[in-house]
Amino acid sequence: MARHTPPRPVDVGELFPELKPWRTTAIRLHPRSGAPSAHDSSVGGPLLWPADEPWPSCSGEHSPDYDDDPDEDEVPLVPVVQVRRADAPGLPFPEGRDLLQVLWCPYVHGEAGSPLPRVHWRSADDVGDVRTGPPPDDSALEDHVPDPCAVHPETVTEYPGWDLPEELKDALKERFERLEDEQGWEYMSHLAEAPGIKLGGYPSWTQDPDWPDCQACGRRTEHLLTVASWEFDGGSWHTWLPVEDRPADPDADVFTTEPASSAQDAAGVMLGDVGGLYIFECRACPGRPIEYRFDCS
Ligand SMILES: [Zn+2]
Ligand SMILES: [Zn+2]
Repeated sequence: MARHTPPRPVDVGELFPELKPWRTTAIRLHPRSGAPSAHDSSVGGPLLWPADEPWPSCSGEHSPDYDDDPDEDEVPLVPVVQVRRADAPGLPFPEGRDLLQVLWCPYVHGEAGSPLPRVHWRSADDVGDVRTGPPPDDSALEDHVPDPCAVHPETVTEYPGWDLPEELKDALKERFERLEDEQGWEYMSHLAEAPGIKLGGYPSWTQDPDWPDCQACGRRTEHLLTVASWEFDGGSWHTWLPVEDRPADPDADVFTTEPASSAQDAAGVMLGDVGGLYIFECRACPGRPIEYRFDCS
């Protein structure tokens, strides 16, 4: 079943013409519990990984502050997102590639306690025999191992929230407040960037933006993927919860009533305290080097 974000309750571009140049699109993945195959786009599902390529692993420094050290020197990465080009219209795949695969090390890295992501772009036709990925390491943080989900990609329009330039925020402040007073719509949580796991668009930061530059060429990177802990919260669900996931009773509590409650964190990922991991890439450098950021409240 496809998922549809409801139409915006107001025309943002008309109300705030200054925002029009900042309008962009994102592809919400809408993961929902399921049993995807290695040939499907998925969150936390099996990857179309060639049998003649070793499964990727991490031998990095793991922070002992958060959980047990892994028993092994090398721990297997776990699948996070796989997306076929056909499911991500508009996402600029590298030439000749039609499969995006994102994995991460489920142990915690750095002071913030972040998983460590890795990105692969493939041609699905080049994968012959498929390797079955190993089970996640026994002591890996469960919150960092996404459960298998089918995805329901949907392209939506976004405006910057956290990434709104300061001077524009100041210029629009009073009009934002008036909209909230008169109609109850809060720009940041109801109208700006889409929450949840998504490709492109603006990162769904939970703290001030910290947009990385490419370490190779110095250019500002492009946002590739946000992995958020939740698809919606107490504010954002009003405008971002898909029509198909809304309880039949419009007054029901979305956090305890199906299908909404299962939609909130279908992959069972919890990054810090309801945080997110944001992957950026440099499309100008060969091999598209990535950078990532991690934040939580
Ligand atoms: Zn690691
Ligand atoms: Zn670069």
